[in-house]
Amino acid sequence: MAFNHHALSFRQTLKMFGDVVAVDHVTLDIESGSFIALVGASGSGKSTLLKTINRLVEPDSGSVLYEGEDVRCADPSELRRRIGYVFQGVGLFPHMTVAENIGIGPRVAGSRLSAERVAELLVGVELDGGYAGRMPHELSGGQRQRIGVARALAADPNILLMDEPFGALDPVTRDALGKRVRALHDRLGLTTVMVTHDMAEALLLADRVLVMAAGTIEADCTPAELLSGKGGDVAQELVAVPRDQAKALAGIVQ
Ligand code: ADP
Ligand code: MG
Repeated sequence: MAFNHHALSFRQTLKMFGDVVAVDHVTLDIESGSFIALVGASGSGKSTLLKTINRLVEPDSGSVLYEGEDVRCADPSELRRRIGYVFQGVGLFPHMTVAENIGIGPRVAGSRLSAERVAELLVGVELDGGYAGRMPHELSGGQRQRIGVARALAADPNILLMDEPFGALDPVTRDALGKRVRALHDRLGLTTVMVTHDMAEALLLADRVLVMAAGTIEADCTPAELLSGKGGDVAQELVAVPRDQAKALAGIVQ
């Protein structure tokens, strides 16, 4: 794995929607191989920042670099092949089978995933190959999210972007899927950016936690740094939630 090498860089990246500054001059480097959690309140700019990476959003000024190259210079379809993306809300096509959903990216690019490859991707997210022929409405929420991850990995990307991938899941499923994605990240040598509003999930899964507020990166810390009180007020307010819950739970068994 190539460390000391930036997979992604933001340089004064600015995106406005009318008068709203969604992403406010963000400058940031993300090391290759790292697992980043992007945390913050609703409306803080997390999704917009993520979408500047694969050009679903074009910045008004500043730039975004993928392995040192400005993403504006990259062919968008090639960029999306190298950058897997799990949408907020997953967004499977309801009239397509699981296999067709997983293969949609390659198909748009003019190639076809083999049945073996679909089965391999399903195994990667701990689903039996028999799910390939199912329709999305025949799946549980957790299974749909797994398909979303499999689809993002179909073209063998080196970067995985996930926008609140475990949003609407029950806590047990959410925990299992989080661990599974972290294991895939490690095994495939990915660089991962996961948006979440759940600080506990961020602390447990990520190497580095970015806290966003009003379009800016308010804190950029390791989980250990956050747990030792660093990162400032906004970050510490978020860390206080799982910490107080853990304390309250510990209190019950005494
Ligand atoms: P988050 O993902 O942290 O909830 P977003 O990046 O979705 O935040 O949104 C940041 C801000 O930009 C919000 O004020 C939101 O209303 C606004 N915004 C996001 N996308 C659009 C859009 N397509 N049109 C207008 N405003 C938008
Ligand atoms: Mg969002």
